[in-house]
Amino acid sequence: MRISIRTKSNLFLAGLLLLTVGMLSLLVLGEVKKEQQVHYESLLSQQSKVANIYINQSYALHSGIESNEFLKSKGPELAKQIGILSDMQVILYNMKGAKVGNSFPMDSYNSINTTIPYASKNKVAYEVDDEFLYYSTPIRTTDGQIAVVEFIYPLKENINFLKKIIMIFVYIGSLVFVLSYIIGYIYFNSIVSDILKLKKHIDEIKIGGFKKIQILKRNDELKDLEQGICFMDSRIEENIKTMDKEQEQLKYAVEKLKILEKQQKRFIGNITHEFKTPLTIIRAYVDLIEMYTDDPLLLEDAKKNISKETDKLLDMVEKALHLSSLEKYDFEFNAEPIEIMELLSGICDRINVKAKKFELTMFCDLNKAYILADHESVMQIFINILDNAIKYNKPNGQIFINNYIDNGNVCIVIRDTGIGIPIESKDKIFQPFYRVDKERSRQTSGIGLGLALVKKLVEMQNGTIELINIEEKGTTIKVSFPHLL
Ligand code: ATP
Ligand code: MG
Repeated sequence: MRISIRTKSNLFLAGLLLLTVGMLSLLVLGEVKKEQQVHYESLLSQQSKVANIYINQSYALHSGIESNEFLKSKGPELAKQIGILSDMQVILYNMKGAKVGNSFPMDSYNSINTTIPYASKNKVAYEVDDEFLYYSTPIRTTDGQIAVVEFIYPLKENINFLKKIIMIFVYIGSLVFVLSYIIGYIYFNSIVSDILKLKKHIDEIKIGGFKKIQILKRNDELKDLEQGICFMDSRIEENIKTMDKEQEQLKYAVEKLKILEKQQKRFIGNITHEFKTPLTIIRAYVDLIEMYTDDPLLLEDAKKNISKETDKLLDMVEKALHLSSLEKYDFEFNAEPIEIMELLSGICDRINVKAKKFELTMFCDLNKAYILADHESVMQIFINILDNAIKYNKPNGQIFINNYIDNGNVCIVIRDTGIGIPIESKDKIFQPFYRVDKERSRQTSGIGLGLALVKKLVEMQNGTIELINIEEKGTTIKVSFPHLL
């Protein structure tokens, strides 16, 4: 059975008080009794001495008379006198145990004293009944013991005194008990209430309710305990929050890993497929050459196509290796301040030659701006974007390049008047091997790795890339890097 701390403390308090008051009363009453005993023992011993002196004096005056005769004649008188002196009933016995004198009218007390035989043998003895104490003492003379004196000491006063004290103890004890209990109850109850408040706080923590508010108005170990609980409370909440956060991060990482794994599988599948096509073409030309060794036209055609497919293979290997290495390893880029106007002008000059071949016109509107990036990577980024702007353009088309600073970023916009990218492909064109129109890409020997590589390189330079698609009016790509002031 479970007993609450409140009941236990109340029971304990009541028990302790009862024990204390009870023990105290018993001790004091015991001491009072002892004191009374000491008092009447010394009084009676004193009186027995007086009786001895008194009887001895009388006996000396009647020397020559035999002791029994002496007692017979003087006994009543002696008992009366000793009775007056001691203010008690006194009975005188001879050595045979027969009464020879009584200070009260004869036989007014029928003594049942059993101590007489002891006193007859020269010993002091007494016994107590409900109301009286019978004290017997030998009377010794120069002739030896001649009689026994019995004092009958009334105990009424002592008993009444004891009763009074017991009553006082009952009243005062009850009062002390009640008052102490009330004070103790108030005190213990305040402690118990605070302990129960702390327990409630802990119960709330158990079910995940964190409140961290201190409510106890005290300045002792319980306050320390509450502070400790509040401290633990906030630590537990913090830890749970951190754990939740870590769990979220872990979930996110697992999701990302799954996506990466899928991407990797797709990448390997694509790469195998993409490698096969040029290799099959090369293989076919090699077979044809072996069959028709003396066909100059075939030879010429084979040379051209094998060279084209080999270039494509090399380009693909180079881009695929670059992309997978960027995804796998954390490269330390050689970040340096780059003046974007100068860099883009240089690229435009190089690309312009190719653009002219395709009857395209380039318009550059550039402003000075600095970014912190890897020179080689930035070159690759813009060469790839501009390469697309040429490849997927229309005859007599145009390419516009301009830059500006917006919100602490250097933005570079490349727009072309080419075939454009349909809205449904907007999110896919940065995926490896994705091509909008495979046939068109084949003609332009595109393998679909350029923009995937560009996106990776841009992100590694803390930049962003987005496709601002204006369908049928060509393609616009915006690249942003943090502006270096
Ligand atoms: P690679 O660049 O690897 O030689 P690619 O040019 O085909 O091959 P990406 O540069 O990644 O590959 O481009 C992906 C696809 O996006 C292209 O195949 C093309 O369909 C489309 N695309 C990219 N840029 C343009 C553009 N300026 N205009 C129209 N379509 C574009
Ligand atoms: Mg490309």
